[in-house]
Amino acid sequence: MSEIILETQNVFKRYTKDYVLKEINFQLLKGEFISIMGPSGSGKTTFLNCISTLDEVSKGKVLINGKSLGQQSTASIAQFRYESLGFVFQNANLLEPLTNFDNIATPLVLAKEDTKLIKEKVYKIAQQLNIEELLEKYPGQCSGGQQQRVAIARAIVNNPSVIIADEPTGNLDSENTRTIMKILTDLNKDGISIILVTHDNLVASFSSKLCYLKDGEISQTIER
Ligand code: ADP
Ligand code: MG
Repeated sequence: MSEIILETQNVFKRYTKDYVLKEINFQLLKGEFISIMGPSGSGKTTFLNCISTLDEVSKGKVLINGKSLGQQSTASIAQFRYESLGFVFQNANLLEPLTNFDNIATPLVLAKEDTKLIKEKVYKIAQQLNIEELLEKYPGQCSGGQQQRVAIARAIVNNPSVIIADEPTGNLDSENTRTIMKILTDLNKDGISIILVTHDNLVASFSSKLCYLKDGEISQTIER
């Protein structure tokens, strides 16, 4: 039996009157790569926010490593988020006044990591993602694909167990999309679990499981 990292049980979410998520039962097993597809407005981002502890559900349970979020302190939930989750968004969301090196180092600086170790870790990740030559540049001096690679480096520098990606290739051409997907599948082979929202069939084809969201419900699940 594989270990369940994230799970939702009968999750409902509403912001105003109507439910945006309805009766979502979902599991992410260790090492899985799940893609989420569905029309715009179907609740994909809301779903990611709920499972990544960024937002609270209205009904039902979210469990992390078998423990319900409702039974955990805010501090331990925040610790899970910082230590175990890496986020990648459609726009790289890098800090423009900082070099790429400093952007990638940010999570380590926040974790009060030792300066020498920060340097080692950033260089190691940069090597892995083939962005060493970009480290001293600023985000504004880089292409969209390069910025997204820097953003992935920042997301994984803390060695998370799960990557949560919301349309990470949404702004990229097909060549850059392939590069990003190669990086993500390599990370997945190394044991990092991935949940990724996409509109692109090619991107979804890299995953081991596909969940289709429609009107806030998982209407279909396809396993490879
Ligand atoms: P998707 O990512 O699939 O495009 P979202 O999860 O962003 O969909 O949105 C699902 C629905 O929830 C939409 O109708 C959207 O308008 C609504 N919604 C999302 N976030 C909020 C919010 N913070 N407040 C109110 N309504 C929201
Ligand atoms: Mg969205």
